[in-house]
Amino acid sequence: MKPDPYAPVLAPGTALIDSHCHLDARAWDDDAGVDGVVARAHQAGVTHMVAIGSGYGFESANRAHAVASRHDRVVCSVGLHPHDASEYTEGRLADMLALRGPAGTVNTRAGRVVALGEMGLDYHYDYSPRDLQRAAFRAQLAAARELELPVIIHDRDSDGETLTILDDMRAFDTGVLFHCYTGDVGYMEAITGRGGYISIPGIVTFKNGDVMREVAARTPLDRLLIETDSPFLTPVPFRGRKNEPAFVGLVAVKVAEVRGMTPEAVAEAAAGNTRRYFGF
Ligand SMILES: [Zn+2]
Ligand SMILES: [Zn+2]
Repeated sequence: MKPDPYAPVLAPGTALIDSHCHLDARAWDDDAGVDGVVARAHQAGVTHMVAIGSGYGFESANRAHAVASRHDRVVCSVGLHPHDASEYTEGRLADMLALRGPAGTVNTRAGRVVALGEMGLDYHYDYSPRDLQRAAFRAQLAAARELELPVIIHDRDSDGETLTILDDMRAFDTGVLFHCYTGDVGYMEAITGRGGYISIPGIVTFKNGDVMREVAARTPLDRLLIETDSPFLTPVPFRGRKNEPAFVGLVAVKVAEVRGMTPEAVAEAAAGNTRRYFGF
């Protein structure tokens, strides 16, 4: 018999945060679908979620913000994914940033935006031309610096160019988090050595996830976050099913196994890092 996917896997009362989930209504058919996902996550013991307002075009920002406005324990980011970089214009970025609400309203109903992103470079899929990816990335980093907001980075096969641009834009001053980290230990050390953070996804549970497990074992505990990147990358044993924030506990369990810690200790540390990083 398959285990109940929504049964809590950690001890009751443990802080458990999914630092990166796509709660864009387009991924879940409609708002009711999204609200069901949030309810099932809480049922599974997930205390908070960071809804990513990037990945389904510019409209993602509006939709993630709408979810965060309906739920007390959901905050959001806004940004433009490298896949969509060819949609970038200055005016559209300004509209997206206006979702932050008036100054001083962060974490209130009027302003649930805690970060910019995900943004970065994706030279694996190359859905947008590389020069446009670079331009949209730099424009968002400039905005983050001006607004003193941390950023969420998507980096796929950029061969270190992402890090070069982050250094050039002095992004580590206001906070850099590499989400769904898929690099090696050396690159992780370059990021954490600059004060950056690493978020470990469900790939850590995959059969071919050896490099990810090594990274999960060696990332400094005060720099480590966990995520689902749902609706993709469903962890074992629920492969083949749509990923949900409810499954982030399975990431904590595997990270704990490779670090020789309890899952509760990993979840609590990652949750503390998430709240400190995003300031909620
Ligand atoms: Zn990503
Ligand atoms: Zn993502």
